[in-house]
Amino acid sequence: METEISYKDRRFLAMALKTAAKSTHPQHRMGVVVTKGGAVKSTACNLTTWGSHAERRAVRPHMDMEGCTVYIIRKNLRCSAPCPLCREALIEAGIKCIIYYNENHQIHRENL
Ligand SMILES: [Zn+2]
Repeated sequence: METEISYKDRRFLAMALKTAAKSTHPQHRMGVVVTKGGAVKSTACNLTTWGSHAERRAVRPHMDMEGCTVYIIRKNLRCSAPCPLCREALIEAGIKCIIYYNENHQIHRENL
């Protein structure tokens, strides 16, 4: 399987990392950037309140997220694959692709 990560992808991951720095969570600081056609549609970090995951906060119900790409990153660059609930929310929102660091510390592109 070919995983091609562009310069643009790296830029959006860096932006997600900056967003993660705003998280108030003591251990898991996550940042998410939602893009479409190379433009940023939404960004979010996670919060300490239960269920306030960055992915679900970034996918806003009033916005058209169909066909968007979502960049997900954890502050310490450990695996940042979305949890099952966030994955479901991303699929429901019509997100077509997610990019995150996998358990091998590699940037991983996954089509939903
Ligand atoms: Zn989650």
